[in-house]
Amino acid sequence: MNSRMQQVQAVLDELGAPRDAWQGGELAVTSPIGGETIAEVATTDPREVATCIERAGHAFRAWRDAPPPRRGELIRLLGEELRTHKRALATLVTLENGKILTEGEGEVQEMIDICDFAVGLSRQLYGLTIASERPGHHLLERWHPLGPVGVITAFNFPVAVWSWNAALALVCGDPVIWKPSEKTPLTALGTQALFARALERFGDDAPADLAQVVIGGAEVGEALVDSPALPLISATGSTRMGRAVGPRVMSRFGRVLLELGGNNAAIVTPSADLDMAMRAICFAAAGTAGQRCTTLRRLIVHRSVSEALLPRLERAFASMAVGDPLIDGTLVGPLIDAEASKAMDAALDDARAQGGQVSGGETVAVEGLSGGHYRRPALVRMPAQTDVVRRETFAPILYLMEYDALDDAIAMHNDVPQGLSSCIFTTDLRESERFLSASGGDCGIANVNIGPSGAEIGGAFGGEKETGGGRESGSDSWKVYMRRQTQTVNYSRELPLAQGVRFEVE
Ligand code: NAD
Repeated sequence: MNSRMQQVQAVLDELGAPRDAWQGGELAVTSPIGGETIAEVATTDPREVATCIERAGHAFRAWRDAPPPRRGELIRLLGEELRTHKRALATLVTLENGKILTEGEGEVQEMIDICDFAVGLSRQLYGLTIASERPGHHLLERWHPLGPVGVITAFNFPVAVWSWNAALALVCGDPVIWKPSEKTPLTALGTQALFARALERFGDDAPADLAQVVIGGAEVGEALVDSPALPLISATGSTRMGRAVGPRVMSRFGRVLLELGGNNAAIVTPSADLDMAMRAICFAAAGTAGQRCTTLRRLIVHRSVSEALLPRLERAFASMAVGDPLIDGTLVGPLIDAEASKAMDAALDDARAQGGQVSGGETVAVEGLSGGHYRRPALVRMPAQTDVVRRETFAPILYLMEYDALDDAIAMHNDVPQGLSSCIFTTDLRESERFLSASGGDCGIANVNIGPSGAEIGGAFGGEKETGGGRESGSDSWKVYMRRQTQTVNYSRELPLAQGVRFEVE
């Protein structure tokens, strides 16, 4: 057994994940840190998924009648478990996904934050009262639990995305079935073990199977996607995946929440605080080794400041510590796998062919970790926003383009198929308000003087166009996990019809 495997075992044991789930199974899980196998996870036969869905249906029929604040208590306990085991789960995230430890901890903190949010929400699932046009009537809108939810997640936020969905869904009265990425099943098993602990402390009024995990690739996801017993599928991943999943769910009139690829930009105007912009750009472009959906991929810089900014960025990118994500001081960990590294090479080749000047981006040899795919973040000066810039490459590549007029910058900003996150660096109120206006940036998230990544859970998260249009996490995102019922009650002795219609029968 290699030492990485020992580390993983110790963490999974601490979290309480049953050994038969991650030993001797068919799915070999590798750590991107050194490429070694760290576990062999048991997969779910797509035919078994039907049984899981049936169990979730039983759970739903009991859970939907539990008072929402009682449901919130379960999420409060889950938040406590996450607080207690934050370091262990974060370490597992780093071991399995390769993000640096502080980002692994940040991801678990995000889970804790959404639990807190959901506990409060459990007393605030507000409906509306609406003025009725008829005398002696009242009209209202109530929110009821929807049903079991299928949650499909990507490798890059292996645990937070589940919690955004599960904390809200469970408080709303819906059980969840989670299909994590086949690249990161261990963090799902670790999270599931913490959920089981919370459930044990909760008491016996919680039904079994409120949260289940199914393991495997697209075929296991498809078994969820096609089931009419799951009224909502929340799917996070590439636009390619969304194109397959979205129409399939809609063809059975299911509800779909899609969180897909991004191609996020920053506009840097002449009035920008460049020191602040520099730090924000570095984290947003190179953090998580460029593997966030909100990673900064396009820098649209006013011609008058690009000569000042470019060399500073090149120096910063060249000096960033690339290496073992478990070591303090490392800023850029490995890419998830060889395929991701190849995709980075292909994008850099395309960029050169389309007139780009590339600095950085080379492979970094890390001592003792020859099986990992470590890359220095690349900065690519482009003559225009060409095809390669308009597609999402899930790697640390930042394309830089220049502009002269803010309207042109905004037009370039919006001229990509994706619409997730965006930002502007400016100290000019007119520029920032123009960017935030109806004819400004077209993304689901728009920031001023911060980078496009690292959203807080309080706001609704998601994006437009090929990003899929879904919203999860804060604000009123909870509504997607519930069904809305418009109720009209007649407490009079008359039967007036709406719109004054007369229909007299003897
Ligand atoms: P991916 O699309 O390869 O896989 C995502 C998940 O979908 C996995 O669990 C996979 O098994 C499953 N899947 C794939 N095809 C499927 C199908 N036909 N039916 C059902 N399930 C299917 O994505 P990835 O490489 O894991 O993640 C990176 C991508 O995810 C990037 O494009 C990134 O921008 C995006 N992402 C978006 C958000 C967001 O909130 N918008 C968040 C994280 C990641």
